[in-house]
Amino acid sequence: MIDEESGGSALPDRGVPAQRVLDEIAALRETDRPTHGGRLFAYVYDPAVPGLDELAAAAHAASAHVNGLDPTAFPSLLAMENALVGAAARLLGGGPGSSAPDVVGSVTSGGTESLILAVKAARDSRPEIAAPRIVVPSSGHAAFAKAAHYLRVALDVVPVSPATLRPDPATMAAAIGPDTVLVACSAPSYAHGVVDPVGEIAAAAAVAGVRCHVDACFGGWTLPYLRRLGAPVPPFDFTVPGVTSISVDLHKYAYAPKGVSVLLHRDPALRAPQYFAYADWPGYTMINPTIASTRSGGPIAAAYATLRHLGDDGYLRLASLTCDAVAGLADAVRAVDGLRLMAEPESTVVCFTTTDPDLDLFVLVDELTARGWHTQPQLTYAGLPATVHLTVTAAVAPRVAEFGPDLADAVAAARAAGPVELPGELLALAATLTPDALTPDLVAGLAAGLGLGGGRSTGPAGPTAESEGRLAAGSVPAGASVPERMAPVNALLNAAPPAFRERLLVEFVGLLQRPTWGIAPGIHQQA
Ligand SMILES: *Cc1c(COP(=O)(O)O)cnc(C)c1O
Repeated sequence: MIDEESGGSALPDRGVPAQRVLDEIAALRETDRPTHGGRLFAYVYDPAVPGLDELAAAAHAASAHVNGLDPTAFPSLLAMENALVGAAARLLGGGPGSSAPDVVGSVTSGGTESLILAVKAARDSRPEIAAPRIVVPSSGHAAFAKAAHYLRVALDVVPVSPATLRPDPATMAAAIGPDTVLVACSAPSYAHGVVDPVGEIAAAAAVAGVRCHVDACFGGWTLPYLRRLGAPVPPFDFTVPGVTSISVDLHKYAYAPKGVSVLLHRDPALRAPQYFAYADWPGYTMINPTIASTRSGGPIAAAYATLRHLGDDGYLRLASLTCDAVAGLADAVRAVDGLRLMAEPESTVVCFTTTDPDLDLFVLVDELTARGWHTQPQLTYAGLPATVHLTVTAAVAPRVAEFGPDLADAVAAARAAGPVELPGELLALAATLTPDALTPDLVAGLAAGLGLGGGRSTGPAGPTAESEGRLAAGSVPAGASVPERMAPVNALLNAAPPAFRERLLVEFVGLLQRPTWGIAPGIHQQA
């Protein structure tokens, strides 16, 4: 594919013809999970609408070089951003004639940035608090912890009930203290797909005079449509008094290409502390609503095109397809002895666990992968069992009938294979070592023992893109440096406490993310 002359470096001595470069990328993409086809239940949101990819790509290309840094230089981006924010606000109970007529917002690069900015705005709205804190249910997205980490805000985690997978509103209320700047809840939670009691939590926050953020990154674009289709969706948006901000990811169920989310605030005063302005240097006066300064117009234009093309009726139709797919997948799970739904699906997640000690979920995940179904394992956490997570999108609908038989088959194979048995010394390590005791040598040994082939100093490295997500999720990557079967890795992580899991993943991914010096990964040298 690539000749010796040009080598595999991203910067060859002599430029490579355009078509050959595209061929190289296509060859690399062969190693990825399939982004289309309705068999991938995480990372990717596919509506399977003919022509939509092409439209979004054209819109992306048309605005890729436009810079969101200065809305006065590029009014096209300002117009598209305002249109996106308006659409999100309307969908979520704001806008003219609603109970939140003054709602404003920002377009961000993703859910994580939206949450970091919600926490930043809350923190900086209370400059008198020296050590600010946020209250978050244990089911809240990891990005709240990331925001707390980045912004030096303390995190007060309220456990969810193992029965309902929701936080108790009274416990949330009791966790609010004088230094609390924000209370958060999810609609729905990513892990289990359940909607928190937003009304009661927001009311408690309002009584305490504290902001309340609803993380609707995952479900904000589907719950309103599911409600219109007759699902009993509880109030979770700006119609709920006390809700001060909401995040919704357009690169999830608005089906836009990646890199776009919306953060809404009930009024401009709530948004004001989100901005960063700086005039104390000899260059241009900087005024940024979001973390990035230079921002590509590509994702914004692609999202704009996607929303305009699909339209309200399109989203309703896609939600209906998704709803049917969720019902079908849940039925398939119920039909298998030894599997149990974690919750009756109330959004677009199907999440199940095992009730049979001879059925190892991580082995089951590998067996499903071998049958072409890419699911997401979730580890045991604080009294909650390990689970398998399925993010369901409209593209899954035509595949649902194939899932049941394959699930039954994979369960039979996983039972026959039996649970993963890790070497005793590995388990002992996981159980007894503190994260600090994980030396690079020890990690390299563990990685080798588990078949994770990182850390080599010569030869082609495996693919690096998204490796973190795949490893953390424990799916089976197809690259050269990660094993076919991830069950042993997951079993080890599952046996370890969270702090150890974090450290181990940092080390493992650090081994994968090494620069390549020779032939590009996944490209076969021509004879
Ligand atoms: C995906 C998600 C996020 C984080 O969004 P990214 O776009 O991955 O940064 C936050 N909260 C919830 C509920 C999510 O599903």
